[in-house]
Amino acid sequence: MNYPFELKPLDYSYEALEPFVDAATMALHHSKHLNTYVTNLNNALEGQPKFHSWTIEQLASNWDQLPENIATIVRNNGGGVYNHNLFFNLLKKDVAEPTSGPLYDAIVAKFGSMQAFKEDFKAAGLGVFGSGWAWLVADKNGDLLIIKTPNQDVPNLAEFTPVINLDVWEHAYYLKHQNRRPEYIDSLLKVIDWQKAEANYVNK
Ligand code: MN
Repeated sequence: MNYPFELKPLDYSYEALEPFVDAATMALHHSKHLNTYVTNLNNALEGQPKFHSWTIEQLASNWDQLPENIATIVRNNGGGVYNHNLFFNLLKKDVAEPTSGPLYDAIVAKFGSMQAFKEDFKAAGLGVFGSGWAWLVADKNGDLLIIKTPNQDVPNLAEFTPVINLDVWEHAYYLKHQNRRPEYIDSLLKVIDWQKAEANYVNK
């Protein structure tokens, strides 16, 4: 996906994740919040044809190579586009948690069990102060790691492949859960598309 970037449509309806993620939050999150990141990114790059061939991954990772007057805008909004495209694509209702397979094996090897992983991942999401993301990433050896990023920063994509990401900005949950981030994370963990997560892991 290169310039101009577009608001990537969801492959499910805003209601599709009810009751775990409510339709009003999905609509606002996708059509307003993500759309704003797309618009701001396009506006920042408008007079910068040199960077129009860059992918969203390149922009989100290498924003520090951009002219100083747009670097921070691209960091925040390019990261916002990359993070949300990954996140929305990873959500699906009624996908059973894995009980075998390469991702399951790697999770058990690292965290002990699926349950233990979910507890550690939730703790990471709760540990993000203010706005940011929790991530399950794989390194080049296939070892898994839970990390956190502030704001719309992305992990070091040269080193890590994102497997699952979790938006813990208040805009992701405030309408339904108000300040109850733990409750939101519990709900979100019920709509992870584990098949796509495994594909992310296998294709690292
Ligand atoms: Mn968000």
